[in-house]
Amino acid sequence: MRRLFAFLRLRCPHCLQGRIFHGLWQMYPRCPVCGIVFEREPGFFMNAIFFGYVLGFLLVLPLNVLLYIYEAPPIWFLIGTLLVLTLHSPLLFRYSRALWMQLDEMLDPREDEPLRDDSIR
Ligand SMILES: [Zn+2]
Repeated sequence: MRRLFAFLRLRCPHCLQGRIFHGLWQMYPRCPVCGIVFEREPGFFMNAIFFGYVLGFLLVLPLNVLLYIYEAPPIWFLIGTLLVLTLHSPLLFRYSRALWMQLDEMLDPREDEPLRDDSIR
């Protein structure tokens, strides 16, 4: 349950306290609280793309079901989907990465790493 709240609040998958993001699109390279490196290996966040697709699909599904029920013309499916995905792209970016990081930490937990002075930025 703590992990779910940490995910919803976009917190570190290891200590569940440190912020993952600063700014709209920027991530901290290390957790400001426990010091773990968020990108475990090069290309680590490529797997988050999959979760971005899933979250994006779940996000546009209700709109498209409504458009289908009301027999809207096909162009409205395209316009509605693009609009919803564009407006929510910062959220999709953040939550797809956070979801991947949380699942990765659950499946392959890390050891504690000592917090160094240069580890914040
Ligand atoms: Zn942490």
